[in-house]
Amino acid sequence: MATNRTFTMIKPDAVAAGHAGAILKQIQEAGFKIIAMKLTKLSPEKAGEFYAVHKERPFYGELVAFMSSGPIVAAVLEKEKAVKDFRKLIGATNPADAKPGTIRALYAKSIGENAVHGADSNKNAAIEGSFHFSAVEMVG
Ligand code: UDP
Ligand code: MG
Repeated sequence: MATNRTFTMIKPDAVAAGHAGAILKQIQEAGFKIIAMKLTKLSPEKAGEFYAVHKERPFYGELVAFMSSGPIVAAVLEKEKAVKDFRKLIGATNPADAKPGTIRALYAKSIGENAVHGADSNKNAAIEGSFHFSAVEMVG
């Protein structure tokens, strides 16, 4: 995946609350182009695999249960400095620390149920994008 791309998921809390449309609108208005997208649901096994990097963290079990609890929207986004700018747009992991106007400040319920995922590096954006999409599904 090109380095001007990032990977996101709208998490089960935000999809269930009906915020997916508003979040996608905010993402597009911030200048990100959607080049792949789908509504999907992770099995506990797939969620565990996706978050394997956090396996040793105390919240891993809870995170896997939450991320497999309902539908998510997975997407690959394109913009200059996509990874950096998207992390800025979503705000801090804990919504209590997220800057006003960021997606997590607006929609996250807690540090765990925090509305959106954003890749943290170009390398992980590529790995995570390929986890959900094949090359032919990326139309940008
Ligand atoms: N998480 C949690 N408790 C914590 C920290 C993180 O449940 O104390 C969850 C939360 O959903 C977070 C995800 O684990 O988005 C991944 O954590 P990370 O530190 O990578 O935060 P992010 O990159 O999503 O801001
Ligand atoms: Mg992270």
